[in-house]
Amino acid sequence: MNFSEDFMNELRYKNPVEEVISSYVVLKKAGSTYKGLCPFHNERTPSFTVYPNTNSFYCFGCQNGGDVVTFIKNIENLDYVEAVRFLADRAGMAMPESGYDDSVEKLRRTVLAINRETAKFYFECLIQKEDGGIGLKYFSGRKLSAETIKKFGLGYAPDSFDKLKNHLRSKGFSESDMILANVCSKSQKTGRAYDRFRKKVMFPIFDLRGNVIAFGGRKFPEDEGAKYINSSDTPVFKKSKNLYGLNLAKNSGEKTVILTEGYMDTIALHQAGFNNAVGALGTSFTADQANLLSRYFDEIVVTMDIDEAGQKATKRAIEILKTTGIKIRILQVEGGKDPDEYIKEFGANRFRMLLEGAKNDIEFKLLGAKNKFDIETDDGKLNYLNASIEVLASVNDEIARNLYASRVSGETGVEKSVILNRVQRMRKSNEKKALKKELTEFTRPKYSPNDVNPDAKKYRRAAYAEENILAVLMQYPQYAKYVFEKLSGDDFLTSFNKDLYLKLQEILVAGKEFEISYLSESYDSKQLGRVMEINSKFSFSNDIEQVIDDCIKVIFDEKDKLGIISPSNMNDDDFLNALNKQAKDKKGKH
Ligand SMILES: [Zn+2]
Repeated sequence: MNFSEDFMNELRYKNPVEEVISSYVVLKKAGSTYKGLCPFHNERTPSFTVYPNTNSFYCFGCQNGGDVVTFIKNIENLDYVEAVRFLADRAGMAMPESGYDDSVEKLRRTVLAINRETAKFYFECLIQKEDGGIGLKYFSGRKLSAETIKKFGLGYAPDSFDKLKNHLRSKGFSESDMILANVCSKSQKTGRAYDRFRKKVMFPIFDLRGNVIAFGGRKFPEDEGAKYINSSDTPVFKKSKNLYGLNLAKNSGEKTVILTEGYMDTIALHQAGFNNAVGALGTSFTADQANLLSRYFDEIVVTMDIDEAGQKATKRAIEILKTTGIKIRILQVEGGKDPDEYIKEFGANRFRMLLEGAKNDIEFKLLGAKNKFDIETDDGKLNYLNASIEVLASVNDEIARNLYASRVSGETGVEKSVILNRVQRMRKSNEKKALKKELTEFTRPKYSPNDVNPDAKKYRRAAYAEENILAVLMQYPQYAKYVFEKLSGDDFLTSFNKDLYLKLQEILVAGKEFEISYLSESYDSKQLGRVMEINSKFSFSNDIEQVIDDCIKVIFDEKDKLGIISPSNMNDDDFLNALNKQAKDKKGKH
C-alpha cells in the first residue's frame, strides 16, 4: 500500500460505497445490499450489487467488482492515485504530501501541460495570422465570432513540421513526451518527433474539469486527405469516454442536451445560444458516452444526418441511450441540412421551433417505417402495419403504446384492438427471448473467469482446489498458519490463483483480516470481481482442516500427474526419492 492505512481507512469511512455509487447509479435497497442497473455493461434487469458491509460492489452480469476506489477508477476513467484524489476531494480531505508512487500521475500531468501549451500556441498562431491568416479566414467564413473562438479555444496549426515542436522544446518538454501527448508523431526514419497537425484549423477537446485532453484538426477544403484528424487515445484521453463541449453544456442549467455529429455543429449551436449542445467526437456513439450524458441530463435530442449512414447511427444511438433511461427525441433538420447550416440560413428561432417539435424515438421509428412503404396500396399498408407493430412492441409505456396504436389505426384503417392484440403477442415472445438470452448469458458469462485466470481451463481440478484454499483464507484467517505451513505459492498451478495466494499471505501474515480494499490498488475490476466470486463460491460447514488437507492433496496429485516436483514441503530425502521415482516412472513408460 502506497498510502498509509490510516489515510485509506479515513477515505473509505468518509466515502461510503453506497453513497458514492448512488450518485452514478439508481440504487434500490434489497435487504442489507443495494441493487441497480450496471454502469459497466448494458442490462435490463439489475445485477449490479453494492455491499455496504464490506464496502464493495459486484456485478453478476459482467463480473466486475471492487471497492469504492475501483468504482471511481472505472467510472471516471482515472488511475488509482487520481481516484484516491477524487475521493479525498469529495470528502474534503487533504492528500498526503508524499509517500505514494505518482509516476503515472506525473506523466498525465506532463501530457496535460503539453496539451495546454499546445492549445495556447495554436490559438496564438490563429490570432497572429500565421500562413497569411488562412485559419482566421476559415472561421470567419463559418461566421464564428471572436468571442466564440475564444470560448472554444480554437486555433490554427501552421504549415510546418517543427514550429510546435520547437515551441514546446523552448518550454522544456521532451520529444518523447510530445509524442506521448500525440501532438507530435515519431518519424520512422529518424526516430525524431515532428508536428502531427499541419495546416489545420484546430479544436481543442476539454474534459469536465476544463483540461485540454486532445485535439481535433480539420483540413482546408482545397487540401487532400481526411476531413478531420483527431488525437489518438493517450494517457489523458479515451475517445469513447468523452464528448465535445460537455464541459460547457453541463453548466448550461438545461435538462435537455443536444447531441450533434461534430465540432462545428456544436460550436454553431453554442454561438446561437444553445449552450446545451455536445458533439459525439466522430466515433460511433458508445455506452460510456450515453452514461455520461444521462448523469447530467434528463432528456436528449439527437440531431443527425438525413443520409443512410446517419439514420443507422441514430438507430444505434437510440438503442444505447434507451438502457440509461434518458428521454430521447430525434431531430431531423429540414432539407437535410446540418444544424450549423440551418441556423445560418433561418436563424436560431426557427431552429428552436424545430427543436421543440423534435420527434420522440417512437415517432421517429414509425415515420421511418412509413417512409419505407407506399401505404396507399394494400400491400404497402400491410408491410407498414407489421413494421409498426414491431416498433410498438418495443415501447414499455402502456399509455404511449395505446396512443401510437390509435395513430397507426387511423393511418391504415385497421382496428386499434387488433393492432394492440398483435403488439401484446409480440411483447410476450420478445420477453421470452430476452429472458432466455439473459439466462444463457448468466450461466455462460461473456467474460468467462478464464479471462482473468486462463490457466484454470488447463488445470480445472487444481484450480478448483486452489480456489477452495483461497476462500478459506479469506473467510477463516485463523487457519492461515495451518495453510501456509503446508502450501507455498510455488505449489499453485494457475498463475492468477498463485498471485492472489501470495497477496493474501502478505495481508494475513501482517495480522490483518482480508478486505477487498487491500487488493484494489494492484487488481483491476475484473480481477477483483474474480476474487469476490471465489470468496462467495465456497462456504464451509464441515471440518475446515479436512477441507484444507483434501484440497492440498488434490493440488499435489495434479502436480504429480503433470510430473512437476515441488520441493517446498519436502525434506531433502523425500525430494530425492520423488526425483528417483519420477525417473523410474518415465523409464517404465518407454
Ligand atoms: Zn455489469
